[in-house]
Amino acid sequence: GSTIGFLGGGQLARMLAMAATSMGYRTVFLEPDPNAPAREVSQHIQAPYTDEAALAKLAELADVVTLEFENVPDGALNFLESRVPVYPQAQAFRVSRNRILEKQTLVDAGLQVAPYRVIRSETDLEGALAEMGGKAILKTAELGYDGKGQARVSSDQEALEAFRQFRVDCVLESFVPFVREISVQIARAPSGYAGLSGIVENVHHQGILKRSIFPARVSEKVVNTAREFAVKLAEHLNLVGLLTLELFVLEDDSVLVNEIAPRVHNSGHLTMNGGGISQFEAQIRAVTDLPQWDFEPFMACSMVNILGWEKIEPEWDALTGIQGAHLHLYGKANRPGRKIGHLNIAHYDPNVVWGSTKIAEMLLFGDVSP
Ligand code: ATP
Ligand code: MG
Ligand code: MG
Repeated sequence: GSTIGFLGGGQLARMLAMAATSMGYRTVFLEPDPNAPAREVSQHIQAPYTDEAALAKLAELADVVTLEFENVPDGALNFLESRVPVYPQAQAFRVSRNRILEKQTLVDAGLQVAPYRVIRSETDLEGALAEMGGKAILKTAELGYDGKGQARVSSDQEALEAFRQFRVDCVLESFVPFVREISVQIARAPSGYAGLSGIVENVHHQGILKRSIFPARVSEKVVNTAREFAVKLAEHLNLVGLLTLELFVLEDDSVLVNEIAPRVHNSGHLTMNGGGISQFEAQIRAVTDLPQWDFEPFMACSMVNILGWEKIEPEWDALTGIQGAHLHLYGKANRPGRKIGHLNIAHYDPNVVWGSTKIAEMLLFGDVSP
């Protein structure tokens, strides 16, 4: 009976801990928030990530430590790494939490990204927008998520104003006229066992993931490119653990990497009910050096995020009454727009999955995504 430690106690840690518990591991997580979603399923060390005594306790209790979010202070990672195996390795986190380093690493690994320019000063902006084709997104290099720290710009004036507001290093990224967004995941154990996910199609609304569906409506060529990207990057990073790639698919079936996350991901939640190994089990297998299999779902499946409400609470009876639906809630207090849970839908008939997904979207958002 070994123990798996987590840095962070959000819904990802909660679902990782649930998978680990099913497999017979004990779990413990370090997280300052007393109401962290993982508290209901795992031992909790409640302290800041910079608290050395708490980090030492985590390292002592855990046989291996894994993470659920990128913005862990470097000091904490280094401290832990000197005492206990930490997977993914700190280097994967350094890369993924800074868009400048991230894009450079993707290019070095031989993957394709959208045209971009590093913006550290107002002079870096000169001529940049024209070079990006006149339409671009200015993104802060660090600390962005769910579309925060981003501004869509289509004039030099807008770009300048956005940069003056952010006041930090940024990248200016060409606006990509994608036909679809997809994601792919790879899990890799220290001994080299690796498994790939299925290709999932994602729809975002106002920068937040709204719905994922498997299989993605893409060609065999796109599937192969996505998988090839995942393998190349995992090898380049010498990854141990699980890595997610968010990708854009263009009209001509070419594929660009949007960003990466060295962890389980919202778009992988549908693996909990699609049959086969879930993304959570895949990450646990990877960090405990168990064999990996590809973790493509056996069935068609989808996921619709459940966001906190302002006025009207979701109709839980109606949601759970949808054919093929499975409700997952994270034990979070309601706050408008906050991710508080998700509804998975799985069925052997893809038509049922599509029909049920549309019903769920109507109930949750009052409209249906394409
Ligand atoms: P996450 O919560 O996934 O970490 P994030 O804040 O890091 O989000 P991105 O993934 O960079 O944000 O962007 C959010 C969404 O905005 C993308 O999924 C995509 O729909 C859109 N988007 C981002 N970059 C571009 C681009 N260059 N061209 C067109 N759309 C884009
Ligand atoms: Mg991101
Ligand atoms: Mg993203």
